[in-house]
Amino acid sequence: MKTKNYQLNLKTRVEELYNVGQVCQKHLNRLGIFNIQDLLLHFPSRYEDLSSTKPIIEARPGESATFKGQLMKISSRRTKNRRMIIIEAIISDGTSTLKVIFFNQPFLTRFLRPGDNLVLAGKVDYKPYLGKYLSNPTYEKSNSPTSLHLGRIVPIYPETRGLSSRWLRLKIKPLLKFSSDFADPLPLSIKKRLDLINLDEALRQIHFPDFRESLKAALKRLAFDELFIIALCAEILRHKFHSLQAEKIRFKKNKIASFVKALPFQLTDCQKRAAWEIICDLGKNKPMNRLLNGDVGSGKTIVAAIAAFLVSLNNRQTAIMAPTEVLAHQHYQNFIKLFKNYHLKIELKTSSHNLVRKDKLIDSDIIIGTHALIQEGVKFKNLALTIIDEQHRFGVKQRALIKQRSTKRITPHFLTMTATPIPRTLSLALYGDLDISTIDELPRGRQRIKTSLIPPRKRNQAYDFIRSEVKKGRQVFVICPLIEKPDRNKEKMTFDFDNRKAALEEYQKLKKTIFPNLKIGLLHGRMKSKDKEKTMQQFKKKKLDILVSTSVVEVGVDIPNASVMMIEGAERFGLSQLHQFRGRVGRSKHQSYCLLFSQSWGEETRTRLKIMVETNDGFKIAEADLKLRGPGEVYGERQHGASNLRFASLFDLKMIKFSRNEAKKLIAKDPNLASHPLLLNKLKAFEKEIHLE
Ligand code: ADP
Ligand code: MG
Repeated sequence: MKTKNYQLNLKTRVEELYNVGQVCQKHLNRLGIFNIQDLLLHFPSRYEDLSSTKPIIEARPGESATFKGQLMKISSRRTKNRRMIIIEAIISDGTSTLKVIFFNQPFLTRFLRPGDNLVLAGKVDYKPYLGKYLSNPTYEKSNSPTSLHLGRIVPIYPETRGLSSRWLRLKIKPLLKFSSDFADPLPLSIKKRLDLINLDEALRQIHFPDFRESLKAALKRLAFDELFIIALCAEILRHKFHSLQAEKIRFKKNKIASFVKALPFQLTDCQKRAAWEIICDLGKNKPMNRLLNGDVGSGKTIVAAIAAFLVSLNNRQTAIMAPTEVLAHQHYQNFIKLFKNYHLKIELKTSSHNLVRKDKLIDSDIIIGTHALIQEGVKFKNLALTIIDEQHRFGVKQRALIKQRSTKRITPHFLTMTATPIPRTLSLALYGDLDISTIDELPRGRQRIKTSLIPPRKRNQAYDFIRSEVKKGRQVFVICPLIEKPDRNKEKMTFDFDNRKAALEEYQKLKKTIFPNLKIGLLHGRMKSKDKEKTMQQFKKKKLDILVSTSVVEVGVDIPNASVMMIEGAERFGLSQLHQFRGRVGRSKHQSYCLLFSQSWGEETRTRLKIMVETNDGFKIAEADLKLRGPGEVYGERQHGASNLRFASLFDLKMIKFSRNEAKKLIAKDPNLASHPLLLNKLKAFEKEIHLE
C-alpha cells in the first residue's frame, strides 16, 4: 500500500491518493483528470433521487423503490444445480419485513451482519414459492449523513470504462472539503443581484446535493458562469473594437436613392431597415461590426451591394469574401450586372483566378474573392469596408485577420452575413460582439416551396414530375451526399455496406437510363474551378436542365429559373443544410418544390425530416437543428466555446440576458478587468481553450 500524503491540496496528483492504483490512474488520466482539482471538476451527468424511502409494508411487486431497515437474518445456499450461490436476508422496519435476495455475492455473509441498519434500493419481485422479495438491490450500511450511494440524491458520473460511479463517489466525497480552495471569481455584487450561490457551495452541491433545491441552485450558478465568460469575452472584443478608428463614409442620399429606384424590384422593409442601419454605422468614425442575419433567399446580397456602392461613392474600397469559388464568381457576375451603368472597377480574386500578387497594390473599387483575399501580404489602397458572406464557413480567427488587411492605421468597417439564420437567443449569446440586423421577411411574391418526403415506391412518379417541370422550361438540382462511392479495396474502413448516393454514379444513371433526352450537368468539389465555373454558367444560361451536385451548391447559389430541388440521402444532412439546399429554388415567381429522398425511414429520421415539410421558416429550422445537433455542428464554428456548455442552455433567454447585462456593466467600469484578477485569469484560460480548438 502507498503511503498516504497528509498534505493534500488541489494540485495533489491523483496517484498520491489513498487507494488509487496504476490502473485507476490511467483511467483517470484518460479523462483529463490528473489532480484533485480536476477530480472535483469532473461533474455527474445525471442524478438518481433515492432520497425518499418507502415503508416496507407498501412494497409492491414490479416497483422499484428504496427501503430502510434492520437486518434480521442472513444466510447463503447453493441452487439445486449448484451453479449459483444465493444469499437470502430478511430486513424489518417496524411496519413489516421483506425478503432480500442476492445472487452470486458470497462475501455478503461476512460483510453484512444481523443488527446492521441498511438502505436498499431495487426492484420488488414476486414468486409464489418465495413470496415478495427485493431482487439484487444496491445496498449500503446505515443512512448516516455521510451516505453516498443511497438514501439521497445520488450522482451518476458519465459512463467510463474502468471507473464506476460508485468508485468515483467514494473518491470524490472526502475531497469535497477542498472546494473552498477554489477561488470564486464572481464579484459579490453580481452574486447578490442574481441570487447565485458561492462557487464552493455549488461544487459541493453538484456532486452531492442535499436537496433538489440546492442542486438547482448549483446548476444555476454553474450555468451563469459559463454564459458569463462568453459574454465577457464578447464585451471586451466589442469594447476594443469601439476604441479603434475608422473612416467616416458619408451618406449620398440622392445617388443611393436613384440606385435603389433603378433596381428591378422593390426592397422589402427589412432590407431597407438593414441598409439604413449599415449606412448609419458607416457614417461613424468607429468601425462598424455588424451581422446581417437573414433567412436563405431573403436578399442579403443587395443590402451588401448598397453598402459597397456608398463606400465607392466616397472613393474608398470594399472587399467581399465568399466561402467558395462558385459563390465568389456568382457575386462577381451579379455585381458587374448591378453596376453596369456606373463606372466602378470590380475585380475578382480567388486562388485560381487572378492570383493575388503580393507586391501589387489593389486599387479596384470592389474586390470580390475567397480566402485568397486574406492571405498575408495583400495590400489594399484604401479599404474601408470588409464584407464576409455566408459567414458560417469563416472562423473567428479569419474575421480577426481580415480586419487587419489595410495599409493604414485605420480599421475597415466590417459586415458579416449569415449562411443560416441564427435564432435570437444564440445570436445574443454567441455574437455579443456584433451588432445585429435581422431580415426575417422574404421578398414579396415568393410562394411557399412545397416540400415532400418521397418513399422509394414513388421514385418513378417523382422522375415523371421532374420531366414535366423541365417541359415547362424549369430547371432541377439533384443533390447527393458523396462524390463517388468509396473503393472497397482501398477503403478498409467501410465495413458496413455504404449505400450513400454518389453524385458521379447518379449522374451516369440519370443521363443514361432515366432522362436520356435531357441535358444533365455535374458539379462537385474535386473539379477544377474553371470547370466548376463553366458548368455553373451553362446551368445559369439554361443550357442544362438538370444539375447533379454534391453539397458545393449548398450556400448562396442563385438560379432563379430552377424550381425543383431533389435531395438524395437527405437523412445524411443537417436540417439547416437541407434548408440551404432548398433555398436554391423558389427564387422567382415559379412555384418550387423540394423532394426529399432517404435511405432509411426510421422513426427518428422521419420526425426530423418532417420538420422540413412543416415549415419554410429558416429561423425555426435553425432552432430545431440547434436543439438536435448543437451549435458546433450547425454553425461549423467552434471557437466561441458554445460547444463546451455543460450547464447552460442556449435557449435560456433569461439567463443569457442576465449574463450579458452583467458583463456590460462590469466592462464599462473596468474594461481591462484590472480589479478582477480572478476573472481575468479565467477569461485568459477560456480564450486559450477556444483558440486551441
Ligand atoms: P440571400 O439572402 O440568400 O443571400 P440573395 O441576396 O441571393 O439571397 O437574393 C435572392 C434572390 O432574391 C436574388 O435573385 C435577388 O435578386 C432577389 N431579391 C433580393 N431582394 C429582392 C426583393 N426585395 N424583391 C424581389 N427579389 C429580390
Ligand atoms: Mg447569399
